[in-house]
Amino acid sequence: MHACPHCGKPAITVLRKTFLGPGVPVDCQSCGKPVRVTYPAWMKAAFPGAAVMVGALLFDSELLMYAASLAGLGLMIGLHLLWVPLVKDR
Ligand SMILES: [Zn+2]
Repeated sequence: MHACPHCGKPAITVLRKTFLGPGVPVDCQSCGKPVRVTYPAWMKAAFPGAAVMVGALLFDSELLMYAASLAGLGLMIGLHLLWVPLVKDR
């Protein structure tokens, strides 16, 4: 769970946060106020995983390509959860 910047209580589930992109506010499930993630933070967290996924295209082996793509996706989601803070939408 991720703490709400308005009320400090759990705002959204990990699953919800995983699919939360910039510019799309969601309502805190504790206080109902809108929270969102910022574009710069989202980009910073998405970049390493995206770079790994692009790098995966360079492998000759299909198996390695799929493995690296999955690793990149995992990295993207992991960094998103760790690095991207929730902020007040208004
Ligand atoms: Zn709240």
